[in-house]
Amino acid sequence: MKLKFWGVRGSINSPLSPEKYREKIEKVLSFSYGEDISDKKKISDLIDSLPAHLSTTYGGNTSCVTVSDDSTLLILDAGSGMRNLGNELISGKFFNSGISEYNIFLSHLHLDHINGLPFFSPVHFPTVRLNFYSHYKDFEKMLELQQDFNFFPVSLKSRPSTKKFNVLKEDEVISIGNFTVSSKKLNHPNGSYAFSVESSGKKVVYATDAEYTAGTVLEAFFPFFGKADILIFDTQYDFNELAGRFSFGHSTAEIGVDAAVNSEVKKLLLFHHNHESDDEKICLMYDSAKKYMNYKYPSASVEIIIANEGMEFDL
Ligand SMILES: [Zn+2]
Ligand SMILES: [Zn+2]
Repeated sequence: MKLKFWGVRGSINSPLSPEKYREKIEKVLSFSYGEDISDKKKISDLIDSLPAHLSTTYGGNTSCVTVSDDSTLLILDAGSGMRNLGNELISGKFFNSGISEYNIFLSHLHLDHINGLPFFSPVHFPTVRLNFYSHYKDFEKMLELQQDFNFFPVSLKSRPSTKKFNVLKEDEVISIGNFTVSSKKLNHPNGSYAFSVESSGKKVVYATDAEYTAGTVLEAFFPFFGKADILIFDTQYDFNELAGRFSFGHSTAEIGVDAAVNSEVKKLLLFHHNHESDDEKICLMYDSAKKYMNYKYPSASVEIIIANEGMEFDL
């Protein structure tokens, strides 16, 4: 089972601004004072030695994650990261180029989870078959509405690919190829659904856009998250932001730690980064989550990782 991240941001696209880019260059250059950067290798070593918020940038595209093996591709959400995925599928750089049937699971229909679909190039090909899955019974109509002529020049229906829209029932478990996919409703404005994908004894849980309040006690999700190799968790806010944005439907990295440790998860992936958080802030939230875990669960061995575009895992 392979897992790959194509979009990791929440709410809206958040490209690095020219001002932030310049600020980053200035900080990086200050690290190079007195260093030998006379060849490519030395420059590369210097970059590797930088703090994470300077050696990388945490995406700009919204939610899109793939889980695949040699014969089956599952696409979890159709945020703007889906555009790059589509281009790599067409060029044969990603996934088995002999297979053109793709399975798209939508956690919910907020724009940041569907805005990549109009730019997903495989829809132009008559040989491509797209199987959509969602719990929202009118979701085909909603996706068409996104591409209504008032909002977008080309309708989804008019694209030559074959499209099948499957409405999922609550707690329905489905099998596609070697994968078993189950789902669980999350607390989010107009709802959102977590997906658990299992194959050959490995398990990935994708649980984005969720708030865990008194009405949706975190413990209720432990069996669903239970013993996942990877838990992808909505960590949009820090605690101060969460306190001011009650009922916005998002969570924190510390709540992710509580969920991961108590569900005996191996890796916790911080995901759905706030569009208002810069790279430095995301790294501070990661540090805070690590400190929280070390203090509250000193013997815990969960690996905490900041999800980023292009990040891949082989399970
Ligand atoms: Zn979202
Ligand atoms: Zn949402």
